Amino acid sequence: MIKMNYQKVTEHTLAVTSEDFIAGAIALNNFIIIIDSTLFPYTGKIMRNYIEKFFRLPVRFLYLTHYHGDHLWGISAFNGVEILASDQLIENVANEKPIQSARFEEWKKKDPEKTKLIDAIDTTFSVNITFTNLMKIHDEDIFVELKHCGGHTSCSSYAYFPQERVLVAGDLIFAKEWPWAGDPTCNPNDWINGFEEIMKLDIEFVIPGHGPIVTKDEVEVHLNFFKSLREEANIAHKNGEEMRIPPFYDDTTPGEWVKNETLKFIYKFYRNQFLE
Ligand SMILES: [Zn+2]
Repeated sequence: MIKMNYQKVTEHTLAVTSEDFIAGAIALNNFIIIIDSTLFPYTGKIMRNYIEKFFRLPVRFLYLTHYHGDHLWGISAFNGVEILASDQLIENVANEKPIQSARFEEWKKKDPEKTKLIDAIDTTFSVNITFTNLMKIHDEDIFVELKHCGGHTSCSSYAYFPQERVLVAGDLIFAKEWPWAGDPTCNPNDWINGFEEIMKLDIEFVIPGHGPIVTKDEVEVHLNFFKSLREEANIAHKNGEEMRIPPFYDDTTPGEWVKNETLKFIYKFYRNQFLE
């Protein structure tokens, strides 16, 4: 079965981590906002029960940071909860719908022991409340800011809890490892702009989409990495030579393919821009 760990980050925030996914929870005065649903309805349900008991408050909102399955497919465990996401997420989910069942079949072939869990995924969910750029959820004197910036995917968004200086970054941050920039809607320039916005916020802890809980320094590390990728693509194009890879983490959990796909995507993205 899937092992989940619960890590208290600050007084009112919690990170839920496993090998395959990370989710976050922010407890306001009267209710909880969960950020990302985990990979399966089964894990989503266990997480929801744990968090409600832990904070002794009801979950009122589930906020989806982007449309990737490891952040989204636990959604049917959140009956009776308002689902929040960016407008762009709805579009991305709709675009993926025609190929979704083929993807599930492929996944079952690759992970036959997860067949039951995969079959339990309900793709007919609907998002109740959407926003274009920014939304704030208030509860008496405190609030959480939800911000769409794109980058990792065109719907990528984050949650910021200023009172305790916590950022829940979704896959904008793959902490201490190579980011995956292979989604067809990925835009490394938006990713850089998103990081620059985040750098202006007062942050102590970052709950990433993958990897350990980190501090704001990690955002800067990734920002600088993406900037040097852009620079190297520029130099390679100008000189007509192969793109150099700027030094970064050796760890490419879950494998070398992340690094290869990311480099391939970044190079293609900037080459197409130069050709425009
Ligand atoms: Zn993702």
